[in-house]
Amino acid sequence: MSTCVVIGAGISGLATAALLAADGHEVCVVEGREETGGRVGAWSRDGFTFDTGPSWYLMPEVFDHFFAMLGTSAERELDLVPLTPAYRVYPEPHDDTTREGVDVVSGRAEVRALFDEREPGSGERIERYLDSAREAYELAVDRFLYDTYASTQGLRDRDILRRLPRLAGLLTGRLQKHIDRRFKDPLLRRILAYPAVFLGTSPYEAPSLYHLMSHLDLDEGVLYPRGGFREVIRAIETLARDRGVQIHTGDEVSEIILEGRRVTGVRTASGTVHRAETVVSTADLHHTETALLPRSAQSHPARSWRRRTPSPGAALVLLGVRGELPQLAHHTLLFADGWKENFDAIFGPDAHAPDPASIYVCRPSATDPNVAPPEHENLFLLVPVPADPSIGSGGIDGGGDTSLEEIADRAIAQVSEWAGIADLADRIVVRRTIGPGDFERDFHAWRGNALGLAHTLRQSAVFRPRNVSSTVDGLFYAGASVLPGIGLPMCLISAELVLKRLRGDLTAGPLAEPARETR
Ligand SMILES: Cc1cc2nc3c(=O)[nH]c(=O)nc-3n(C[C@H](O)[C@H](O)[C@H](O)COP(=O)(O)OP(=O)(O)OC[C@H]3O[C@@H](n4cnc5c(N)ncnc54)[C@H](O)[C@@H]3O)c2cc1C
Repeated sequence: MSTCVVIGAGISGLATAALLAADGHEVCVVEGREETGGRVGAWSRDGFTFDTGPSWYLMPEVFDHFFAMLGTSAERELDLVPLTPAYRVYPEPHDDTTREGVDVVSGRAEVRALFDEREPGSGERIERYLDSAREAYELAVDRFLYDTYASTQGLRDRDILRRLPRLAGLLTGRLQKHIDRRFKDPLLRRILAYPAVFLGTSPYEAPSLYHLMSHLDLDEGVLYPRGGFREVIRAIETLARDRGVQIHTGDEVSEIILEGRRVTGVRTASGTVHRAETVVSTADLHHTETALLPRSAQSHPARSWRRRTPSPGAALVLLGVRGELPQLAHHTLLFADGWKENFDAIFGPDAHAPDPASIYVCRPSATDPNVAPPEHENLFLLVPVPADPSIGSGGIDGGGDTSLEEIADRAIAQVSEWAGIADLADRIVVRRTIGPGDFERDFHAWRGNALGLAHTLRQSAVFRPRNVSSTVDGLFYAGASVLPGIGLPMCLISAELVLKRLRGDLTAGPLAEPARETR
């Protein structure tokens, strides 16, 4: 068993610390910010509590497995509420008729009915699509996501080899094309394509294997942790502390200390040295590699990032609103007619903020009365923008950079018009914006991206940066820029992948769960 320093107290850092401590290591976490949680942030003002990051709880079995690894369960740690509808969709309006959103309810019968209603005869096709999505998802969880790729053992498995021709097709094809070949209705196509954004990429770039994402929202369903996503952090942080993990906040790591090719600890901005045999960095890989290590020790030097693709940036607008907003579900998506143009604007060579944008709106006060004062609503608007800090940093009450505040004003006007809430702007009582400039400054996010490295084919599975340095012994990585990828469940898996490395475990699937404790 070793001494271990974890850099960063986001979900990946806390989860890694908890798993390693439970396995007998002596672990401390060093976080630069005053608060833990990283991108899973919260902000309170005038009786509103906003989640500033995640709002979709997907892949529940990954959370279940993580908690089981610590002898407990998601059910015991969190109060999870299933959302019905899973989300509402508003297409771009073309006239002055009443705005009516389309509710998407998870479950085969409901999804089939929705597809048949909008595109007669497509109910049968969506059943086959979702069967395939489920199969691909189960394969991913069983064989790919929990593989460190320290060996090719998992890839040489007989079952994988048998499925190789079909997998090759799904990996080389593009998601949007895969969808467009099967469905004609523009709204249905977008319902199947938008989850590419969860993967930090465009459906025109994502491999068609990622049609597996539709298994999550359409088949499994969408959950909400009552109290907000900080509850997920609270639960994991408590489990880590209960296992002896020390957490130091407000002192950023400025250097990973080396002796020859071996890591011996970290030095912080205040000059404190934390000695350890193992260092796990969960900060953005670009920052860890290019800012915390000398050039000679970098496995991913600055020039290698020219070939990499960041996830989009995000312009976030947090709004406290007077009165009720029944026009919006807990999750609402606004799909712009210029679907491809939106993705081209974000990822293309002439990158700029799309207008009108396809916008995501979260209204957690639809489910959780504690996130807004009585007779008020809590809104979170996410406008995907290019990963570019020059788009700006945010502020309170319109005090952010002009470029970002303009995006926010447009987004508010768009939600107002598309969802038919004529007086939305007049009812705003709290407003805060957050932009790519904030992500770069607060999290050292490469180019101010919001999510990590995009899941293009070249940055997925075996092609994604591994969780171990190829030049420094004892240095490991976890988090959204390395294996297996973006999002809370993937970050929990990345924590387990560090444990597998330390144990020398070469298996491709999840580790066996220990027997449950009573806590
Ligand atoms: C707006 C938004 C919406 C999202 N929506 C969803 C969603 O709905 N569902 C979902 O599953 N996922 C979602 N995600 C993704 C998810 O939030 C992230 O994948 C996840 O939180 C990343 O966790 P992490 O621990 O890897 O990184 P971070 O949360 O970035 O944590 C890294 C930590 O390292 C710290 N750090 C950095 N450098 C140093 C240093 N030198 N020294 C010390 N500390 C350092 C940072 O301060 C930070 O606390 C969303 C993300 C965003 C931003």
